[in-house]
Amino acid sequence: MSKEQELFIERIDERKQSALAKLKLLVYGVQDAPELFIKNTNNFKEEHYAYDNGNWGVDKNRLTPSEVLLPGGIVSKLHVRPESPYRLVEDGDRLFIRDDQSFLSEFRFLERPNFWDYKTSSGNPTKNVGQMYGLNALNFNLYSGCEFHKIGKGCKFCSVMATVNRKNPVDITKDVQDIVDTCKLAIEHDNVDYILITGGSYLDRDYEFERHMQVIKAIRPVLPWNGVIKGNISMMPPKDMTKLKLLHDYGVQNPSFNMEVWSSTNFAKICPGKEEYVGFDHVVASLLYLQEIYGPGEVWSNFVAGLVPLEDIKNGFRFMAEHGIVPGANLYHAEVGSSIGKSLGRIDEQYVLSVFSYAAELYHKYGYKPYFNTRVLRNSLTNEIYEGVL
Ligand code: SF4
Repeated sequence: MSKEQELFIERIDERKQSALAKLKLLVYGVQDAPELFIKNTNNFKEEHYAYDNGNWGVDKNRLTPSEVLLPGGIVSKLHVRPESPYRLVEDGDRLFIRDDQSFLSEFRFLERPNFWDYKTSSGNPTKNVGQMYGLNALNFNLYSGCEFHKIGKGCKFCSVMATVNRKNPVDITKDVQDIVDTCKLAIEHDNVDYILITGGSYLDRDYEFERHMQVIKAIRPVLPWNGVIKGNISMMPPKDMTKLKLLHDYGVQNPSFNMEVWSSTNFAKICPGKEEYVGFDHVVASLLYLQEIYGPGEVWSNFVAGLVPLEDIKNGFRFMAEHGIVPGANLYHAEVGSSIGKSLGRIDEQYVLSVFSYAAELYHKYGYKPYFNTRVLRNSLTNEIYEGVL
């Protein structure tokens, strides 16, 4: 990490304003800034479109920053929306987010991970294989696709198939040795504090689980955490729940099965593939089974905030928290090529604050911790609210 970036992170007195700026960025997005982006192409970590695309009206082959860093070490995802009141502007050698009236916050681009300059032993550029999520979570999408979409039953908010359908995509199915090599290169050349492994689903539940286990077994010896897979492994559960014990045996710290929405009715409507091939009841039962093995506060289930009424998502959070599972949420953002598209409009700020405040309230009540931290969790405000800066 450069000295400049370190100094920017040390400006902790500005975290309140940074948290407010992140709220605005996630709710409203920013206008496109092609001149600024082209001028700074060598200075930022670019969006690599491995599973989603929230950049409206942007040519995916033009490099666009994936995130911004705000003073005090708060990272926010960048979603380009032409109708946003917010613009990214340069003032001398500093960068700011502003609307027509005033400056909202200074920002920096996140530096491009060094491991992207290397290739795996098979000669594959590592950018085709993995990315850095926020400042220091190494992220792999084992399958940048999803068989639910292939049968017309993808989750309504998800754009994975449309996103990777372009020139020079990332590898759709990642090779295990390529993943191992990429882990080694990232650990050697960058700061890696967490790993995050996820992927689109397969109709064959057991195959998806086997793929995850293959990768977990292969990377475990090269990770620097004494046999712990420090971070999150996210998937849909296999048919046979007893297999889940392997996640614990192989050191996975925080496994998750993501509900996305709450109430079984909403789940069936918004995630029809998950409902038909896995089932709401089976996802919940698998979370409870895993919690029995792990104990409270270790198993996660993520939601998408903005898809269902406030009371529904709060009910889901409460159910999880009461049963030892840590609920979390990403803020919904309209994705190019998803079924829902822009039809939901902008998510109300008060709704957003209520969702994340409720999560933080439950964490305090049950002694749980939010996922990752403010340097990593770029599409959520749970850390900022939990910490009291928002
Ligand atoms: S399971 Fe749903 S959210 Fe996940 S990749 Fe498939 S369609 Fe997208």
